[in-house]
Amino acid sequence: MSDSMEDINRQHWMHDLLGSLEVGIVVLDRNFKVEVWNQFMENHSNLRPSQIVGQSLFTHFPEIDAEWLALKSEPVFNLKTPVFLIWEQRPYLFKFDCNRPITSELDYMYQNVTLFPLSSLTGKVDRLCMLVYDVTVQASSRLNIEGLNKQLTQMSRVDGLTRLFNRRYWQERFGNIFKLAKRRGSVDTAMMLDIDHFKAVNDTYGHQCGDKVIQALAAIIKDTVRETDLAGRYGGEEFAIILRDSNSDNAQEVAERIRVAAENMAVTHDGQTVRFTVSLGLAAFNMQDDNEMQWLERADQALYKAKENGRNQWVTG
Ligand code: GH3
Ligand code: MG
Ligand code: MG
Repeated sequence: MSDSMEDINRQHWMHDLLGSLEVGIVVLDRNFKVEVWNQFMENHSNLRPSQIVGQSLFTHFPEIDAEWLALKSEPVFNLKTPVFLIWEQRPYLFKFDCNRPITSELDYMYQNVTLFPLSSLTGKVDRLCMLVYDVTVQASSRLNIEGLNKQLTQMSRVDGLTRLFNRRYWQERFGNIFKLAKRRGSVDTAMMLDIDHFKAVNDTYGHQCGDKVIQALAAIIKDTVRETDLAGRYGGEEFAIILRDSNSDNAQEVAERIRVAAENMAVTHDGQTVRFTVSLGLAAFNMQDDNEMQWLERADQALYKAKENGRNQWVTG
């Protein structure tokens, strides 16, 4: 075979080789004009080499921020070092559809991209090669695991019946709020509330009905407090709330709103209507408190007084 035939032959199988790779190969000049566009890129972009070679990459892919890519490519041209673009920072460079059924929950193909210098005979770097890896499967399983972890964390903090924070997590957050209040002298008020004569609800209508009442009160609490407040289920039918940036006056308004809402709430169970009331104890943060439990204890004492005074009321300690 002559040398030129050998060359053509070589070019032919090299072309097959590039075409069979499950990796995108793009060669770009300094102005991001496309010089090579392999089969992978053609398959996913629906652009044949004849439609893009010789043209700027950006005219066909408006999703690529030209300024950003130029900045990222600078070390490739100037320092002759490779650059890696990873999906954790940007999910993709080219907005290709994701056509793998097992990862159908992701809308686009997630990509890792390598940019490396191609030097000419003189050693000057006039071109870069871009390798585009489809990492949708890896990204999808990682995102799934992260999602599950978040769910687990959430579940470990929340009480199953009411969806309010459970006692353990509430206590942890309360400790932080106390420290912050001590440092800044914040105006926060602690509130303890307990359903009145709840044993009678259970005894008369059954435990399931009791659960419904607890849920109804939790819904009232969620509707009444602010997002920045800390509300938790402290015990069976006992709740604790830290009202942030609220002095006693503000807290009394909140307490009264909860009291009235509970009084007006009708829970239906087995065709019967069940009514209930709550008692509440309030205690504003006090610089003299040595720890958060002293603060909460004052709210609990106030709650005790509210019970003693006849229930269905709030008392400020
Ligand atoms: P008081 O007005 O003094 O608070 O009277 P009370 O009957 O509500 O007394 P207490 O607060 O001591 O009663 C708590 C009762 O709540 C006892 C327990 O059987 C019931 N309880 C605790 N947790 C749950 C729960 O998750 N579901 C139901 N249905 N009942 C619960
Ligand atoms: Mg009770
Ligand atoms: Mg109780």
